[in-house]
Amino acid sequence: MFAYPPMHVVNPATGEVLRDVSEADRAAVTAACERARAAWTAWSSTSVALRCEVIRRFRALAVERAEALARTLALEVGKPITQARNELAGLLPRTDFFLAELEGVLAPEVVLTSPGDRLEEVVHREPLGVVANISAWNYPWYVGANVFLPALLTGNAVVYKPSEFATLTGLAIAELLHEAGVPRDVFQVLVGGGGVGAMLLEERVDAVCFTGSHATGVKVAAAVAPRLVRLQLELGGKDPAYVCDDVDVPGAAAAVADGAFYNTGQSCCAVERVYVHERIWPRFVDAFVSTVRGYVVGDPLDERTYIGPLARREAALVHHEAQVADAVARGARVLTGGSRVDRPGFFFAPTVLVDVDHTMAVMREETFGPLIGLARVGSDDEAVALMNDTAYGLTAAVYTADRGRAERLLGRVDTGTAYWNCCDRVSPRLPWTGRGTSGLGVTLSRDGIAAFVRPKAWHLRGV
Ligand code: NAD
Repeated sequence: MFAYPPMHVVNPATGEVLRDVSEADRAAVTAACERARAAWTAWSSTSVALRCEVIRRFRALAVERAEALARTLALEVGKPITQARNELAGLLPRTDFFLAELEGVLAPEVVLTSPGDRLEEVVHREPLGVVANISAWNYPWYVGANVFLPALLTGNAVVYKPSEFATLTGLAIAELLHEAGVPRDVFQVLVGGGGVGAMLLEERVDAVCFTGSHATGVKVAAAVAPRLVRLQLELGGKDPAYVCDDVDVPGAAAAVADGAFYNTGQSCCAVERVYVHERIWPRFVDAFVSTVRGYVVGDPLDERTYIGPLARREAALVHHEAQVADAVARGARVLTGGSRVDRPGFFFAPTVLVDVDHTMAVMREETFGPLIGLARVGSDDEAVALMNDTAYGLTAAVYTADRGRAERLLGRVDTGTAYWNCCDRVSPRLPWTGRGTSGLGVTLSRDGIAAFVRPKAWHLRGV
């Protein structure tokens, strides 16, 4: 019916085309939104029990097909297979959390009962309508599910635009949801790149939930501003970790390195800057570099691989090279890595820089890959000042043996998430929210379910 131009799905570990898919055109985008609008009222009138049952079936299908789905993720995104399996496994606790909390969030709330004047005041929660979900590729199951699961459970229809770098996973998500019993028009997937996302924003939708870079987030906000639709933006970060002088140095170095390099550093909450107290500096740097040198770079389908290719391919390699060149030109030293890996595909060697400062792009702009700068600090106050010297505000971590010291430091850091002796961690029970250029709104936690309903105020006076 529609003329879909072809789009290549490429394996970033080899550069080979995995499959050709058809990119949605404007007519397809409009038709999807119209079908979603026609379908959402019936879906929103179904019982909570039925919607939960459907999502339970989706969960069961994700368990049943986990290995095949993990392989798809490894192939098209380049995620090391053990980490792809972790992502599929991590989908389950968040699904369980949404299922367990849904009824509590949706329950009408009686806020006043006044028999004297026969008055009752009640807050009801109603779905938003049609939710446009434009998603990123780095954790497509996580960041997608944070939106489409609570959106569907609360009775919304969803038009889902997966990243062009995670298309096959986006199609698999739709297949599982439909097989589980979500009506086809209630969850629709639009294949394509940024142009398809931009067309979706021109349609009549009731909410836009976007996960991606700050630069695109600003465009998304500008596109929908005149229509005042509900907007959630989950954007990038430049997340700091501060390692105090009282830590177990090898343990802290291994943990922070994992926070920086897991998922090949392509996590919104990856550690992107490390500040180390001068008293432990040489020992920490040695332990950190030796951990990073031990990481296996290779084929994402090989179980031993810890570092895979960059999903955004050539553009990401160029971005990494530019950050290294800028830092070195300003006085940084490369202790390990620093360049592309000489093999097919889009691999960048895990890289550690020292002698870095905040004049360098690597300490200011999101890297989103296996490249980190370590800086020495002389005091807790200096560390806090540097952690806050950023426009982003997603997460911050402090490593210390002293909980009081950690809480005092983290209380002064302007981020949506604070970690003591951990990092690069997301919990379904806690709100996921960015400050500053890291975004607007909340996913996960009870607040992240409530984000998909709007309150209606009932004033009820009996006769
Ligand atoms: P991106 O901004 O390039 O793309 C995100 C999505 O937006 C894609 O689906 C893309 O096709 C679409 N898009 C591009 N241009 C558009 C436009 N003009 N209008 C509408 N849609 C458009 O980001 P990415 O490379 O996919 O993801 C990486 C970024 O996402 C990083 O900055 C990362 O930190 C961030 N991220 C944030 C979170 C979070 O929870 N805060 C989670 C994951 C990723």
